[in-house]
Amino acid sequence: MGGELSIVIPAYNEEERIRGTLERIGEYLAGRDYEAEVIVVSDGSRDRTADIVREMKTAIPSLLLIELPRNRGKGYAVRAGIDQSGGRYVLFSDADLSTPIEEYERFHPLLARGVPVVIGSRGLPDSRIELHQSWYREGMGKMFNFLVRTLTVSGIRDTQCGFKAFRREVIARLISLQRVERFSFDVEILFLARKLGYEIAEVPVRWVNSPRSRVRIFRDSARMAWDLCRIRWGSMWGSYREEAAG
Ligand code: UDP
Ligand code: MG
Repeated sequence: MGGELSIVIPAYNEEERIRGTLERIGEYLAGRDYEAEVIVVSDGSRDRTADIVREMKTAIPSLLLIELPRNRGKGYAVRAGIDQSGGRYVLFSDADLSTPIEEYERFHPLLARGVPVVIGSRGLPDSRIELHQSWYREGMGKMFNFLVRTLTVSGIRDTQCGFKAFRREVIARLISLQRVERFSFDVEILFLARKLGYEIAEVPVRWVNSPRSRVRIFRDSARMAWDLCRIRWGSMWGSYREEAAG
């Protein structure tokens, strides 16, 4: 597969949301004048996620389903999808479309102009948060972004919005160095992008929170903080050195 755009959607037990999401993406793509493919990675789902994606193939012919035999985490699932993608640009988006797919409209021109990394942000003056996360979850997100700014990547308001796009050869290079498999993988990717000198454009997006979350507050925040430390130490100890120049 090739084309202009690959949309990668990690999905863990998303039977209630994935159909609506794929319908909306299908409609959006039908109105575009370039070719795109949609890759859903079922991350060890134990519900009907994969069956529903298979049913949707008639509506979206370019739809590809990857099924991971067991749950590995969002970072791992996104990487598995990117590995199979062929588009000039790669967008990854959450299965709940908290950032509506139409927001990509503002990403495409930037990518086409040569910006290698374009990320959605809930933390800029023009971001439009239409439905907020719970107060504790939003607070946790802000605290996490603060930790990220002090420990790993500075100058980015929101590293965790699930809506990010890249030139494919750039994301391929970044994920070849990726070590974090769960929720902090975004931070690692941005950290690596900075380190390798790629420009990162942060674009304000709409965000309509979807109430059901796969994030488990205590377990996942502890793991996310730990992963930040790993990124920081890893970089000090040279664990992100590339095998060969390239
Ligand atoms: N996800 C995944 N594997 C996991 C956990 C989550 O692929 O182990 C996916 C999930 O299906 C969704 C995305 O990662 O598409 C973000 O998860 P969620 O919407 O629960 O996170 P939140 O919106 O609460 O940050
Ligand atoms: Mg969500």
